[in-house]
Amino acid sequence: MTTELKHHWQPAEKQRHAVPGRLPAGQKHEVGERIVTLCERSVEAAQRTELTWLWPTCGDCMEAAKRRIGVPA
Ligand SMILES: [Zn+2]
Repeated sequence: MTTELKHHWQPAEKQRHAVPGRLPAGQKHEVGERIVTLCERSVEAAQRTELTWLWPTCGDCMEAAKRRIGVPA
């Protein structure tokens, strides 16, 4: 695994999406910020709260994340 494969999870539009790249420590996406996800959608970032972390994981992002780290389908 290399650093290029890093991604992070971000609640957005009622799902938790994976976002390519590393989120530097202490930083976060602004609410309403447009982010491009591993499932190749452009979504609006939601606030990270206990509630939004309970949103269901985006299946397409999960598959893309698995492919990135080499998990067999
Ligand atoms: Zn997604």
